[in-house]
Amino acid sequence: FSRLSEGLSKSSRSITGSITSIFTKKKLDKATLQDLEDVLLQADLGLPMAERIVREVSSGRYDKEIDPEEVKRILASEVSKVLKPVEVPFSFSAAQKPFIILVVGVNGAGKTTTIGKLGAIARGEGYKVMFAACDTFRAAAIEQLNVWGGRIGAKVMSRPTGADASGLAFDAIAEAKADGTDILFIDTAGRLQNKQYLMDELDKIVRVIKKQDEAAPHAVLLVLDATTGQNAMAQAEIFTKVAGVTGLIMTKLDGTARGGILVAIAEKYKIPVHAIGVGEQVEDLQPFDADGFARAIAG
Ligand code: GDP
Repeated sequence: FSRLSEGLSKSSRSITGSITSIFTKKKLDKATLQDLEDVLLQADLGLPMAERIVREVSSGRYDKEIDPEEVKRILASEVSKVLKPVEVPFSFSAAQKPFIILVVGVNGAGKTTTIGKLGAIARGEGYKVMFAACDTFRAAAIEQLNVWGGRIGAKVMSRPTGADASGLAFDAIAEAKADGTDILFIDTAGRLQNKQYLMDELDKIVRVIKKQDEAAPHAVLLVLDATTGQNAMAQAEIFTKVAGVTGLIMTKLDGTARGGILVAIAEKYKIPVHAIGVGEQVEDLQPFDADGFARAIAG
């Protein structure tokens, strides 16, 4: 929990600092409530959430003073209500072998890093792990996955930059079947410049995966970067449409005051949230804890 609240401290400081200054020794009126709504919107919590909190705060208290601590309690409680239903722990399944996890998201969101962290967790649980470096556009992504593979003892299937990603995915699954891999992670390129292209590319990878295993991919994880705020919302929209996303991991919650975006996305898209990233180390990938998140964001 302390790592979580430390990670979310930028988000919580900006919200709670404002709440304290809005409500200290002031009556609850139109102006203070408008200020509150502005703060909640700036924190990317989304309009429905901001309006609910304002309603809840004002109910029965209009024209009276309110303790800022009470406002924070209401904030935590409303956030928790939205997040609780999407709190879904991620578990590796031994029922499918290999258990194939496709990881999607735009460039720089943290896909490769997240794969490394999840791979480390899977290794820790005793699974044989393989990475397929199907982000074949970026040499750095291929290199990075190789570093993670070496670090945790996972085989990495990669090809030179520019190679066909779906061909690599196909061969990686064949290899994983042949060598008894339990968990296969497939990294992808996330070039969002051209939506149609991205869609076609992901379609093609999924089609090719299904040639090897009709039931695969067994999980499609969307990785979103919290620091991008409202852009993360737009990405959730696109990827849930094109990639059959089964779960969400939000990264870089440590580097941003915009952690509220997770709440807005959960409220709008109801995607199961598996984990959050609060730093670059393995232990910085934390299982998603709705109550802990709500408490951390409300300071
Ligand atoms: P990809 O292009 O989606 O594969 O993104 P990368 O995995 O290469 O990550 C992009 C950058 O974000 C790298 O410098 C990572 O170290 C960094 N990163 C990833 N996750 C987190 C996180 O949770 N917190 C922080 N602070 N940095 C992260």
